[in-house]
Amino acid sequence: MTYQQPTISVVAPVYNEEQLIEEFCRRVSAALEPLNEPFEIVLVNDGSRDRSPLLMREIHSRDPRVKVVYFSKNFGHQLAITAGTDYAQGQAVVVIDSDLQDPPEVIPELIAKWREGYEVVYAVRSEREGETWFKTFTAALFYRLIVKITNVNIPVDTGDFRLMDRKVVNTLARMREHHRFMRGLSVWVGFRQAGVSYKRHARKAGDTKYPLRKMLKFALDGITSFSYLPLQMATYLGFITAGLSLIFLIAVVVMRLLYSGDPVDSAFYGQASTLAMVLFIGAVQLVSIGIIGEYVGRIYDEVKGRPLYIVSDALGFEREEPYALR
Ligand code: UDP
Ligand code: MG
Repeated sequence: MTYQQPTISVVAPVYNEEQLIEEFCRRVSAALEPLNEPFEIVLVNDGSRDRSPLLMREIHSRDPRVKVVYFSKNFGHQLAITAGTDYAQGQAVVVIDSDLQDPPEVIPELIAKWREGYEVVYAVRSEREGETWFKTFTAALFYRLIVKITNVNIPVDTGDFRLMDRKVVNTLARMREHHRFMRGLSVWVGFRQAGVSYKRHARKAGDTKYPLRKMLKFALDGITSFSYLPLQMATYLGFITAGLSLIFLIAVVVMRLLYSGDPVDSAFYGQASTLAMVLFIGAVQLVSIGIIGEYVGRIYDEVKGRPLYIVSDALGFEREEPYALR
């Protein structure tokens, strides 16, 4: 049998989704079959510890259109997406979550836009179902903040659910930064972009794999990847403090000339005020160092030059090495 080159690739990261993986593949196939185009589903097993790796192997042996990349351990959502798009061979590559929060039935709409000539078609959540108010609120805040402080116009309320043309995928494949914020990178590269709105459903089964700690790290990756503002804050704060202390010094001199007695003593009675100021300046300095640390740590990760992810097995691909990296 000759190897059939797919037109459409659907890439999904999988981390402990044993309850959903069968249904996911079924629904994606059902959504794509009416289009009469060769397609593939690229599942990336991100070091799952449940039965999903086994299930994926089974699904692949039944349906060779389903291909599986196995990571050697958990590398995280963004790197799983990266590997999936690296391995995908389609002319259009759709990234979608495997927990069925992003309905596969929207994929044909993304493809229709792509046919109109758009090279990145992102899906905008018009509604979010079944998520805690905390998640909805922090997410809304974050997407608005990141637009304000970065110089990429990341559309608000979009996740990683999007379609990318082969050109875009190949471009992204050449950007090997470690702390990847894919939804930012796919905008940063440019090309013709369009949005399609959809309703994000509640998770069908299982729990979110994004606890608060991972969400924070993800937000920091997004901000540090696209903005220097946190670093510049130290400079601004420094100038503001310098300005205030200058005014204060001038006031002290003037008071010294006009009144007898110690001006500082009469302006700030006692040592508590001195202590408060020292502690305040100390705190500001520590926070600034922490911010620098966030950037330095990320520079260190880049310099080490480790691979983004390690693949232990790849099922169903024509050749071993990722298509976009050949
Ligand atoms: N995921 C992954 N690796 C991880 C965490 C999540 O591959 O370390 C996958 C997960 O299986 C799902 C997608 O990324 O398909 C989104 O994760 P999740 O649904 O937990 O995030 P949420 O929708 O709650 O933000
Ligand atoms: Mg989810």
